[in-house]
Amino acid sequence: MRELLRDDRRYLFHGFVSPARARREGSVVLVRGKGPYVWDARGRRYLDGVSSLWNVAIGHGNARIARAVARQIRKLSYATTLLGFSSEPAVELARELVRLAPRGLSRVVFTSGGSEANETAVRLVRMHWRLRGRNSKTGIVTLERAYHGSTTGAATLTGLRDFHRGFGPMLPGVFRIPNAYCYRCPLGKTYPRCGVACADELDRAVRRMGADRVGAFFAEPVQGVGGVIVPPPEYFPKIREICDRHELLFVADEVITAFGRLGYPFGIQRWGVTPDLLVFAKGVTSGYLPLGGVLLHERVARVFEEAGPDFTLHHGFTYSGHPVVCAGALANLEVLRRKRLFRKARSTEKTLRALLRPLGELPLVGDIRVVGAMAAIELVRDRSRKTPFPEETRVAWRVRERALAHGVIVRGSRDNVILCPPLDLSARLLRTLVSAVDRSIREVGREFGYRL
Ligand code: PLP
Repeated sequence: MRELLRDDRRYLFHGFVSPARARREGSVVLVRGKGPYVWDARGRRYLDGVSSLWNVAIGHGNARIARAVARQIRKLSYATTLLGFSSEPAVELARELVRLAPRGLSRVVFTSGGSEANETAVRLVRMHWRLRGRNSKTGIVTLERAYHGSTTGAATLTGLRDFHRGFGPMLPGVFRIPNAYCYRCPLGKTYPRCGVACADELDRAVRRMGADRVGAFFAEPVQGVGGVIVPPPEYFPKIREICDRHELLFVADEVITAFGRLGYPFGIQRWGVTPDLLVFAKGVTSGYLPLGGVLLHERVARVFEEAGPDFTLHHGFTYSGHPVVCAGALANLEVLRRKRLFRKARSTEKTLRALLRPLGELPLVGDIRVVGAMAAIELVRDRSRKTPFPEETRVAWRVRERALAHGVIVRGSRDNVILCPPLDLSARLLRTLVSAVDRSIREVGREFGYRL
C-alpha cells in the first residue's frame, strides 16, 4: 500500500490539482467500489457524493455491465465506425440514443469523451455552413463560466479563465456572453423582472458581429463545473428563437445533464427545446468506459448526406463507436431503464432541496442551487454583500477535504461545494451525504472565525 501511494506521486502526472501539491501530498488512491461507495488503498470507505466525476450515475461495480463488456470482448473486441465499417453494438446504441432523444435528433457520431465531442461539434458546425455556401459563419458564441472540455477547441469554448491563462493562443472566433447566473446577475438585474435579459445578450452579440459571421451557440442546459447554474424556464425557449432568427445552430452540451441527471433522458427536455446538435458523454456509460458523442438533428445531418458522393467527412477517432464501449453503454442504459432512473432525479430534487434548506442559515452559505440530482452550495465571506472568499483561501476545497475526513466525497469548485449523487442513492444516504456536508461547512466556517 505504501508503495502504491509513493509511486502515484512518483509516476503519475495529475490534472485539476497543483502538480506541486500532488507531488508533495499525493492522492486518494482508490482500489475498489460497490454501489455508492469506494474504498481507498488505506481501506477507508467513502460515500461517492459526486458520482465520481458527475458520471457514475448507477453506482460502482454493476455486474450487468461487466457481463456485457466481457461478452463483447469475446465476440468482437474491436471494430471501427470509420472507413466504411460499423459494428453491432455501435448501431444498436445509436438507435437507442435516437429513440431517447428529443424528436428530430436522428443521427449519432461517437467519440471517446466530452471534449472530443465538443471538438466534433465545432467541426460539424463549420463544415455544415461551408456545405451550405455560408463560408463566413465560423464564429461561435458561448457563455461565461461554461465548461466544455480540456482540448484546445473545447477549452476555448470554456468560459473559465483558468483554462485559457498560459495555454494560448486559443481558437479564434469564439465570443462570450453573460450567463443566466441569477444569484450574481452579470447584468445587475433581478428575475423575473429582468425578462430574462441574459438571453437577449445572444441577440445583441450576434447583431454586433453580424449573423453572417456566427455559426453556433454552445451552452450546457445547467452549467456544472461553473457552479450548477440553472437558467430560468424561459431561457432556452428564448435562445432557440434567437438562434432560429439569426440562423445559428444551437449546440446543447449535455455531458453532465443527460441520462437522467435532471429527471429526463436529456436535460434540455426540461426546457422543452430541441437543439441542432446535442453533445453527450459521461452518463452514457455511467463512466464505466470512455464514450461521448454528438446527436445531429435530421436537418443538419441531411446537409452532409446530400453533399454528394464526392464529399468525404474527414473527421473521426480510432475509438469512435468502440464495440466494447458501446456494449457497456447499452447495458448501462438498460440498467437506467430497469431501475427507472431516467425520472428518479425529479423526486431526488425535492429530497435534496428539503435536506439542504437548513444549510441556508449558515453565515457562510450565500446560495443553494438544486436541480434534479445535482446541487451547489455557494460559500461567501459576507452574506449581505455576497462577497466571495478570496481565491487563495480555497474555501470549497477545504470543505471537500473535511468531507473526505468524514467519509464523503464532494467537489470543491472555487466557491462552490458540489453534490451530484448516484441517481439511485436512497433518501437515507442522501441525508448522510448532506449531514457530512453540513458538518464540514461548519468546521471550515469555524476556521474562518464564525461561531458555529
Ligand atoms: N462538457 C461538459 C459540460 C463537461 O462537464 C465536461 C467534463 O466535465 C466536458 C464537456 C468534457 O468532457 P471530458 O472530460 O469527457 O472530455
